[in-house]
Amino acid sequence: MVPQESDWKAIGIHEYKVISTNDIPFEPEIRKICEDNVCRLYGKTWACPPAVGTVEQCKERCLQYKQAMVFSAVYPLEDCFDYEGMKKGHKAFKELCDRLYMLIQKDISSFHLLSNEGCKRCDHCTYPSADCRKAEMLFPSLEGYGINVMKLAQNADLRYNNGKNKVTYFGMLLY
Ligand code: SF4
Repeated sequence: MVPQESDWKAIGIHEYKVISTNDIPFEPEIRKICEDNVCRLYGKTWACPPAVGTVEQCKERCLQYKQAMVFSAVYPLEDCFDYEGMKKGHKAFKELCDRLYMLIQKDISSFHLLSNEGCKRCDHCTYPSADCRKAEMLFPSLEGYGINVMKLAQNADLRYNNGKNKVTYFGMLLY
């Protein structure tokens, strides 16, 4: 059985909604943003392109599942230029994804968990010379899968922006 609302709130999820995987907005143009390497993780981890495969392959992987729980978490910033705060928020969000993984892996036999941006779990990623050290908890990049995260939030009726001096991160549990 899928965990209940109190479980999601207890691990730090701010908002969530279940949508059909048919409503996930895949857009090949989003992959081009990755290729421009704005986040400097393109080709650097197993969670990002090109390691995750083509957008078409990512889409096929997602459509093996019927439902997608889109979720968000919100973290404080000192101001809109607070890069350290964003990094701290992103780390906290990945830890939330770890807690989500621990929660669901007991109850859901088949799932796939995606999250905002790439993986920074290890100081030195093994990509591409050796397998991921934590493949079962990789949580690949939503953007790297070619998903328009702003539209995904809209389709799930979640707030993309949660106000001044806050950063919002998104994830998606496919099951
Ligand atoms: S868990 Fe480590 S080895 Fe795997 S993608 Fe992340 S940084 Fe790389």
